[in-house]
Amino acid sequence: MKAPAFDYVAPSQLSDVFQLLAQYGDEAQLLAGGQTLLATLNMRLSEPTVLVDLRNVAALRGITVTRSALRIGALVTHNEIERSELVRQHAPMLTMAAPHIAHQAIRNRGTWGGSIAYADPAAEWPACALALDATVVVRGALGERRIAAADFFVDLYQTSLAPGELIIACEIPLATASSAFGFDELARRHGDYAIVGLAAAVHYDAQLCARARLAFLGIGRTPFRAKQTEQFLTGKTLSAEMCAAAAQSLIAELQGDDAPLADLTNSADTKRHLASVLLRRVLQRLVVSLPEDSHV
Ligand code: FAD
Repeated sequence: MKAPAFDYVAPSQLSDVFQLLAQYGDEAQLLAGGQTLLATLNMRLSEPTVLVDLRNVAALRGITVTRSALRIGALVTHNEIERSELVRQHAPMLTMAAPHIAHQAIRNRGTWGGSIAYADPAAEWPACALALDATVVVRGALGERRIAAADFFVDLYQTSLAPGELIIACEIPLATASSAFGFDELARRHGDYAIVGLAAAVHYDAQLCARARLAFLGIGRTPFRAKQTEQFLTGKTLSAEMCAAAAQSLIAELQGDDAPLADLTNSADTKRHLASVLLRRVLQRLVVSLPEDSHV
């Protein structure tokens, strides 16, 4: 199918973007990398009157480090993240996760902000943002808001963005020597959306897990934080036995309202099992990947 007719504008100033959004309201749609939006236009799942292309807005580009955070502009592509030394140093989970997103051609065009805004519960970046306690910086004509990732993803493909607002950037607390990060997923073929994926962050106090963040993709209507299992790990020493016990804790947690959503080929039981396998696998890597001084 072909997309319906639409007008196209590509302003270079944020103020012009806000003005267009105010003028056209629901009839306008933002375009970033187009890797999701163009498919929905071609399938006529979306029929905007005007596409507001963000590509010329320099204020949305760039990866920078502030005193306490890594800031990733909304227009930064998946490939730029994958190759960035700043990301590797300060948010290594993203370097691990990037190669799992689709294929090179899509990673060349797809953007961080587009993925966060689209809020696909099977996508890598929303789960990473949750596991990394990222802050989503959004702006509209009336000013800027800073929203914790934990409050940003509210339901299936739904976020707390208000009409007329767009994502400017995300800020991610800088990794420290007492943190360990892991990412992995299970997919039928490389480049497919994952059946289940896990973004994990463990913050140590000496040998003990002081804080854990376990954010799963492919489980629920939003990226899913396994809070009970995070709590289970808190105050414990991460060992092979503890990783196995955490996997059991996760199986107990993914029941009832928190049972995984089945898809066309995987039942809730299969996903629950795969999530527990993944958790054990990723946590075991964190045990061995800890910096030496974190064990003393
Ligand atoms: P667009 O398609 O341009 O926009 C997506 C949505 O976000 C639109 O509604 C748009 O209005 C809105 N938007 C964009 N930027 C902003 C902003 N700054 N503020 C507010 N709203 C905004 N993704 C994965 O995570 N994992 C995968 O395995 C994966 N596989 C894929 C396979 C294929 C074949 C394809 C085509 C895509 C795949 N994707 C996958 C999606 C890809 O990562 C997209 O790049 C991403 O979901 C959207 O980013 P985009 O920049 O292309 O956004």
